[in-house]
Amino acid sequence: MRCKGCGYSLFNHRGRTCPECGAAFSPADFEFRANAVEFCCPGCMQPYYGTDARGLPEPRAFACVSCGAACDLGAMVLRPAPGVREDEAELNRVPWEDRSLPWRRRFLRTVGDAMVRPSRLGAAIACSQGGGSARFLLALTLVAAVPTALAAFAFGALLQMGAVPPGSTWSAASARNDLLAIALACAAGVAVAVAAVLAGVLAVAALATLVLRMAGVDAPWRRTWPTFAYTAAPLAVCAVPCVGPYCGVYVAGVWWLVAAGIALGSSCRASAGRAVAAVVIPAVVMLGLAASGLVLFVVMPATAAVKAATAAGAAAATAPDQGAPAADGEPERETAPVPEPETEPEPAPEDSP
Ligand SMILES: [Zn+2]
Ligand SMILES: [Zn+2]
Repeated sequence: MRCKGCGYSLFNHRGRTCPECGAAFSPADFEFRANAVEFCCPGCMQPYYGTDARGLPEPRAFACVSCGAACDLGAMVLRPAPGVREDEAELNRVPWEDRSLPWRRRFLRTVGDAMVRPSRLGAAIACSQGGGSARFLLALTLVAAVPTALAAFAFGALLQMGAVPPGSTWSAASARNDLLAIALACAAGVAVAVAAVLAGVLAVAALATLVLRMAGVDAPWRRTWPTFAYTAAPLAVCAVPCVGPYCGVYVAGVWWLVAAGIALGSSCRASAGRAVAAVVIPAVVMLGLAASGLVLFVVMPATAAVKAATAAGAAAATAPDQGAPAADGEPERETAPVPEPETEPEPAPEDSP
């Protein structure tokens, strides 16, 4: 039970204003886990327990069984039950899972909690009963970034159009075709990007679960997956025009890992070191996979293509009487009167066509 204005702990406090900032409060403003808080008679400190859905005593006003004084919820002294930590007493709810709110408010509150209060979000996940689709929230976050991505893409396309060289056969008809192609490419790109990020977050969450379990932490998937999915909300930073598409993904990526680490600490009761390992190891593995994918599917084919082109050029140069060099990088061997060009490459004469 912390002051909603300044965060000061309000347990064991008789007054109804925050001693730190002076804001008024009432125990009825809070929700508690069942039997996690003792509501004490202000006269004799006889404890009572909260029994209703919000963890508050029912009825709210009664006569103390011990001293007979009038006990009213508004005047009672609250303290955590024996063995309950102060920060475990309150019933934190993931805003996204609170079906009583409209979806837009649920979404924005979850984004806010993920960005500035990941520890509280983690505590809420720890006692979550489900009720919201983490995957849907994540997809919504990514889709929020789509308009900006489209704008950046369209801006690039306009620059390309402005760079049409004079005298080219550029017309309204070809521009229409170009725009159609750009729109299709945009739609496909957005779909692929959303699917790729979803898969990436899933992979990181799975690896983190593995790391935590190997470190002896009780890390069920129903807690680790929402932790990563809900804290990925900073990816919505990519929706900020101009800045988002360029550095948003780096800022948001780091923000996400930091928030996920903090939230894991409270959602899975992991120590700081284990929580850090659970986000750093998957991140390094994923970066390594991305780098090897880049080498395997982009750098190596490109190198092979350059080599083939060079070989074709060399072959054409060694057989200048054969006319134009082969277009596809395969030297024309069946008519070449010269010795095998691959095994004994001759120095290229200077009179090539
Ligand atoms: Zn306060
Ligand atoms: Zn009493």
